[in-house]
Amino acid sequence: MPSPKYVFLNGEIVPWDQGTIHITTGAFKFGAAVFEGVRGYWNEEQEQIYVFRLQEHMDRLIHSQVFMRFEQILDTTQIGEQTLVLIRANEHRENIHIVNTVFVNGPGGPVARGPVGVSITTGPWAGRPHTENGCSAQVSSWQRVPDTSMPMRIKCNANYQNGRLAGIQALEDGYDTALMLNTRGKVAEGPGMCFFMVRGGKVVTPTVSNDILESITRATMLEIIPEYLDMEVVERDIDRSELLSADEAFYCGTAWEVTPITSVDKVALGDGKVGPIVRQLQKTYFDIVTGRINAHPEWRTPVY
Ligand code: PMP
Repeated sequence: MPSPKYVFLNGEIVPWDQGTIHITTGAFKFGAAVFEGVRGYWNEEQEQIYVFRLQEHMDRLIHSQVFMRFEQILDTTQIGEQTLVLIRANEHRENIHIVNTVFVNGPGGPVARGPVGVSITTGPWAGRPHTENGCSAQVSSWQRVPDTSMPMRIKCNANYQNGRLAGIQALEDGYDTALMLNTRGKVAEGPGMCFFMVRGGKVVTPTVSNDILESITRATMLEIIPEYLDMEVVERDIDRSELLSADEAFYCGTAWEVTPITSVDKVALGDGKVGPIVRQLQKTYFDIVTGRINAHPEWRTPVY
């Protein structure tokens, strides 16, 4: 697929191939960068792209900059507006993925706090491969980095090396992806997505004190599951052994949307097929993000 025409770099929309930074920057050398992954959903009937929960992503991008001690905290209202301008410049008429990055853009050492740069990219996004039939998960031997070492609740680029190792291990071992435990041995999350299970008629998910990202899709689930599925969601610690007696489970995230998990450590969950609750939740989620139903209009920012 050809690259989009433009990217945004340090205040300007520039042609795709001019979206480069120097190899001496702190972002490149030390992972001194924070980012957001955001989705835009194309609604064919309305000829509209809806960006999902842009405001919440921009709010988290503020926290990420503060936590990582950047010398200047960039105004994310402007970054949000520039995102919409870039989508229009690239003339997208399809589902898209957006990445907004704020980074240390200078040749300092490991504790450099600036100067601070910003980039935005947009591109078509076809979705992930396991939405329809579900995925297999491996409980990883890589533990989630604890909050006493790095703030996993925000999106720092360097955090992703932890999930990357778990994800690679899972693929090498013949699974679709990983499920990480935290250093207390409780279920944390996947490499790029949050975990939910259905057990005993309730939906259960780890609390945000389990070394997980403060996920926007997770927060969405906490609202829409009681509203549309009429089920209670319980936030609590989840033990590893509970996983094997879950009736259904799923991952959620901006990129993973609502992806069923059909087995953990090769043990089938329920009958090993995508369950009815997760299937209904997927439908509700896609109806909302695409604006096919009018629920929660405050979550959708129209581009055109
Ligand atoms: N956990 C991790 C580690 C992630 O990278 C992501 C993706 N951003 C998620 C959870 C899901 O978060 P969100 O719903 O905000 O995309």
